Amino acid sequence: MISNKMSEIMKSGSAIRAMFEEGKKLAKKYGKENVFDFSLGNPNVPAPKAVGEAIAQIAREIDPVALHGYMLNSGFESTRKAIADDLNERYQTSFGYSNIIMTVGAAGGLNVALKAVINEGDEVIVFAPYFGEYNNYVANAGGKVVVIPPVPPTFQPDLQALESALNEKTKAVIINSPNNPTGVIYGEEVLTKLGRILTDGSKKKGEAIYLISDEPYRELVYDCKSAPFVTKYYDNTIVGYSYSKSLSLPGERIGYLAIPNEAEDCDNLLAACSVATRILGFVNAPSLQQLVIERCVKQPVDASPYDRNRKLLLNALREYGFECVQPEGAFYLFVKCPIAEEEFVAKAKSHNILIVGGKSFACEGYVRIAYCVSYDTIERSLPHFKALAKETVAK
Ligand code: PLP
Repeated sequence: MISNKMSEIMKSGSAIRAMFEEGKKLAKKYGKENVFDFSLGNPNVPAPKAVGEAIAQIAREIDPVALHGYMLNSGFESTRKAIADDLNERYQTSFGYSNIIMTVGAAGGLNVALKAVINEGDEVIVFAPYFGEYNNYVANAGGKVVVIPPVPPTFQPDLQALESALNEKTKAVIINSPNNPTGVIYGEEVLTKLGRILTDGSKKKGEAIYLISDEPYRELVYDCKSAPFVTKYYDNTIVGYSYSKSLSLPGERIGYLAIPNEAEDCDNLLAACSVATRILGFVNAPSLQQLVIERCVKQPVDASPYDRNRKLLLNALREYGFECVQPEGAFYLFVKCPIAEEEFVAKAKSHNILIVGGKSFACEGYVRIAYCVSYDTIERSLPHFKALAKETVAK
């Protein structure tokens, strides 16, 4: 018999995964080309050619014993140095290889960071809407999620509410910019204020409140926007990065944590993350992919296919009368439901459109449309969205 905890988790399930499964069923029934699956954030842009070339070159050239063997839990020093140097060049930071820990994607990195800092019962603050898996990650570490309600229509973090929520049990705050599911970016002003609040909160508490910055969409930005690098605004920041979205490698499970020297208890924190990587059972991030990243660290990220999709979908949905949050990054469109959320998601499904309800992101009354699909899929879906609008949007 499975554990009670797992039983609970399986009952609540993942609406995103459930919708993805539903899509496969509908595709069997109606044909793949007649189903418009916007449920999953699975990049449709292929990984850059350089990735495949690096894999072939590494397989040919690197001693297989070194390539496939056990290594330091934190990863290859050469890979970590390449990442540190690249970050320093791009963001004028001063990371060394020892500030970087290779992780099994963003999910692995967040679990490692939380495991390293959370005591049983500690609180972790998140801003709704947020990636629902944080609930599981925080629970894995024995923490308790505290949700700050969303602020429509900007969906910027409610910093006053954050100030009120801080207490002696607060151990960490998670932010995600560019954001899944809204696509908004937290700008300099917001991060400066956030940094100040957390500095004051840490002083009051007498120990660091860590800011965990989950950044798998860092380079997926539009309209010449950029996502500020968070360590500049708050010393006690743990940056979690992933190549799942930027290099389209979600199945390869590769990312890193970056922790600056200025973070409180930095050496211990880095050592704890390294141990957490081992005791969580990952042991180390995949060795081949680490070496791929080392060779592809300067690979430009091409957000233009997503930008094209974004413009097409956003303009069309607004024209049909839907209220959409302006996405500045990532590849999601967050749309206000013109009718009750569950009914709207069901009606969309009856038009063979698969989208995820805002409830999954602690923000009821909205839906998330993942536009990391082909341009053609979006074009063909538009008459279906128009029909959905006719049925649901009030005149
Ligand atoms: N964080 C956010 C905000 C995400 O959207 C995702 C994946 O969709 C993850 C973390 C997990 O990313 P990874 O596949 O790198 O574990």
